[in-house]
Amino acid sequence: MADYSPANSSANGEDSMSITSQKPSTIAVWAGEEKPLAFGAAQVPIVQSAPFAYEDMDEWAAVALGQTEGYIYSRNTNPTVGVFEEKCRILEGGEKAIAFASGMAAISNTLLSLLSPGDRVVSIKDSYGGTSRLFMDTLPRMQIEVDLVDTSDGDAIDAAIAKGCKLVYLETPTNPTLKIIDLDRAIRAAKAQGAVTVVDNTFATPINQRPLEFGADLVLHSATKYLGGHDDAMGGVLIGREDLVRKVYEHREICGAVLSAFSAYLLLRGMKTLDLRVKKQNETGLAVARFLNQHPKVASVFYPGLETHDKHDVAKRQMSGFGGMLSFSVDGDFDALKRFVGGLKYVHRAASLGSVNTLIGPPSVTSHVECTAEQRAALGISETLLRYSCGVEDADDLIAQLDEGLKSV
Ligand SMILES: *Cc1c(COP(=O)(O)O)cnc(C)c1O
Repeated sequence: MADYSPANSSANGEDSMSITSQKPSTIAVWAGEEKPLAFGAAQVPIVQSAPFAYEDMDEWAAVALGQTEGYIYSRNTNPTVGVFEEKCRILEGGEKAIAFASGMAAISNTLLSLLSPGDRVVSIKDSYGGTSRLFMDTLPRMQIEVDLVDTSDGDAIDAAIAKGCKLVYLETPTNPTLKIIDLDRAIRAAKAQGAVTVVDNTFATPINQRPLEFGADLVLHSATKYLGGHDDAMGGVLIGREDLVRKVYEHREICGAVLSAFSAYLLLRGMKTLDLRVKKQNETGLAVARFLNQHPKVASVFYPGLETHDKHDVAKRQMSGFGGMLSFSVDGDFDALKRFVGGLKYVHRAASLGSVNTLIGPPSVTSHVECTAEQRAALGISETLLRYSCGVEDADDLIAQLDEGLKSV
């Protein structure tokens, strides 16, 4: 393959001043930007060019044949996108990273390039709505066997993997009921079968959880959410083992679901504050969950940071913060939910999550809009459940607004 992202070669110079030895907040600001940028720019330039031009035919040929570093065409590599990939790669601690037009592009390209007819995949019932549609419709149509297991049942996950499989696809915490999978245990089971493990780390972010450290082969994100953090750009990223990422890169090169330079710029701008935002959202998430958990009008709260969560001990072991996502159900019917949600101030009633603005919405119009009411019920997603994504507003203000709103339930 010709021009594999030059800004993306795995750097293993492990001295104490290397970027890989820095703390996540430093990495989020500097990774991929340590060397002088074009024109001495202090921030990453948006290289808005489809092809890259050469005066010297020999130099062009050398780059096209992969003998020299350089850029040929933005469906393959782009300098702005390359910085985004490098930042994500170092934050997750992987060998290679490649970016996509969206989280679903990252997920679908990964599954479609690593699986073939006759292969068997093990995953969980609670994967993101779009991902579960791939498992339920797209992959079976290609004669790929899919076994979706009860997310909270570690024994069932082990048993399904032990039957033999090519790939294990995990997501923790899950959307929207915040279920937790024991990463160490599931990945060990997968390794015993020689299966490739992929983890969707969108909810946790590399600030709270790094699946590659538990032995996962690949980790992926909807960068649209926390990585970008401002609800102004779509993107996805895949990070991990070089041989596997290269395979997916070859698929992306042909299928074309690339991240645009402008979106990469917006995501990079957002990522500079990733550590700040996520730490604040961890604190707010816990405070809001504790408030809701003791409120008489709230029937149930799902948040891995609550001692009452069935996998709180696992979450404590594998996460350094519990995140800004939670869900809860109000003690009333759908009309009560509509009154409550409709009356809230300083919150967007919208899909998506992980933004600086707080967002609220029922799964029937957000994460699981692709599913029928029966499919949602089978996942334990009641029609009065609400997903709540803490922004970076003041936690006391958010709690006061919820308190006021719950009076209408
Ligand atoms: C949003 C989301 C996706 C899909 O990402 P897009 O950028 O919307 O395509 C995948 N996984 C999780 C956990 C998500 O929240």
